[in-house]
Amino acid sequence: VTLRGLRRAVWEANREIGRAGLAPLTWGNASGVDRARGLVVIKPSGVPYRRLAVDDMVVVDMDGAVVDGRLRPSSDTATHLVLYRAFPSVGGIVHTHAPYATAFAQAMREIPVLGTTHADHFRGVVPLTRPLDAAEVRSDYEAHTGRVIVERLGARDPLAVPAVLVARHGPFTWGRDVGEALGNALALESVAQIGWLTAQLAPDVAALDAHLLDRHHARKHGPAATYGQS
Ligand SMILES: [Zn+2]
Repeated sequence: VTLRGLRRAVWEANREIGRAGLAPLTWGNASGVDRARGLVVIKPSGVPYRRLAVDDMVVVDMDGAVVDGRLRPSSDTATHLVLYRAFPSVGGIVHTHAPYATAFAQAMREIPVLGTTHADHFRGVVPLTRPLDAAEVRSDYEAHTGRVIVERLGARDPLAVPAVLVARHGPFTWGRDVGEALGNALALESVAQIGWLTAQLAPDVAALDAHLLDRHHARKHGPAATYGQS
């Protein structure tokens, strides 16, 4: 992918965050990384989604210095950079304030695996970070947000668990590219909504059996995947 192509893909993902209702106003952001060039393309800060143009996307290096672009990069850029450095397999990141996923984050609840919709996209519960402490909020807040996500994911494969809820804040999702990260943001919101509805009907519903979880995840991911067209 050329840098121009990456700019366009990141712009499209950002537009879709707005169109799909995953974040009102200017909240949320999408980025993509060019590993060969060591560059990240990200949404500019504080521009409403419907007014975004492809050339508004900001190009920064892996330290966050602006390499190309007229606008300031997203205020969450440092979070994205921490995640790109920690997860070499990740090519795109999306942050939203989608209502159902954000409600779980605010309630400080992980999203349990209640059905196969969840298992298709996320191998296990969608984890919740610990809250940031006062010192972490005061200095390098955005970088610390990235660090608690990395801490929470631990040794797990980020592509098998491509979403984390930041406590009291909202979801971050990722994927091999920004399009996949957006797809995971849409899937996460759907899973959070269905999980909420399920809990209304059956407050003490049990988690999905592990064998069904593994079967569904394996259908769409990994070497034995059978879903879609080869
Ligand atoms: Zn946010």
